[in-house]
Amino acid sequence: MQIAIDGPSGAGKSTVAHCLAQHLGFIYIDTGAMYRACALKAYRSRLDLEDSSAVQTLLDQTSIEICHEQGEQVLYLDGQPVSAELRLPEISRLASDISKLPACRNKLLGLQRELAGRQNVVMDGRDIGSFVLPQADLKIFLTASAEERARRRQAQLQEQGITEDYEQILNELLYRDRQDSERKIAPLVQAPDAVLLDNSHLTQQEVIDRILLFLQQRGLLQDIGYNYHQKQKTERI
Ligand code: C5P
Repeated sequence: MQIAIDGPSGAGKSTVAHCLAQHLGFIYIDTGAMYRACALKAYRSRLDLEDSSAVQTLLDQTSIEICHEQGEQVLYLDGQPVSAELRLPEISRLASDISKLPACRNKLLGLQRELAGRQNVVMDGRDIGSFVLPQADLKIFLTASAEERARRRQAQLQEQGITEDYEQILNELLYRDRQDSERKIAPLVQAPDAVLLDNSHLTQQEVIDRILLFLQQRGLLQDIGYNYHQKQKTERI
């Protein structure tokens, strides 16, 4: 089974997708991390993104592998695990820049489809329902107002002891939204058959409850032996 969760930056996709995957016993695949890995490689190599043949050569020489260790996705870039570096602000911006390039998207598309073909997955990104997995069993387009997304991002950073200016965070989000939505290949777009969920005023629990309800209404939970009514009675996620 394939569940696709798309939406703009900071909408809470990864938290929801991760929690949903754990709950259902599926694998969670964070495709943003793959674009971030390409960006990290470009950053380390001081790659000029305007030079398309240099981009192609570098990406041809780049290995990206996804493993799951104790239920967590671990990304190996050229054989080395990477995590915190992928989240640096300069890598976020560079990921959005490099993800526009055909060489980068082509490289990752095959890997994403192969991973989703092997097991039950919850996959999040920008183009999963619209392009990577057009036959996904359930597609969610998760969004929230830009202001709410910026507020949440600022709070997250504060929890990590990082103080960042709200306006700067908001501008960065808007830059990435615009760039992701306007690019020519596989832009950020709600697939026609995706369910729109605006979580500006919903808790994470409410979002997950709604997704479970959509799965139940489509008869998909029975397929994986999940007893929706029993679970609702006996546990909260
Ligand atoms: O989701 P995350 O913020 O980690 O993604 C980083 C960047 O990777 C996004 O801003 C977007 O440009 C790109 N991306 C993409 N397609 C995906 C996932 C991420 O273009 N499926």
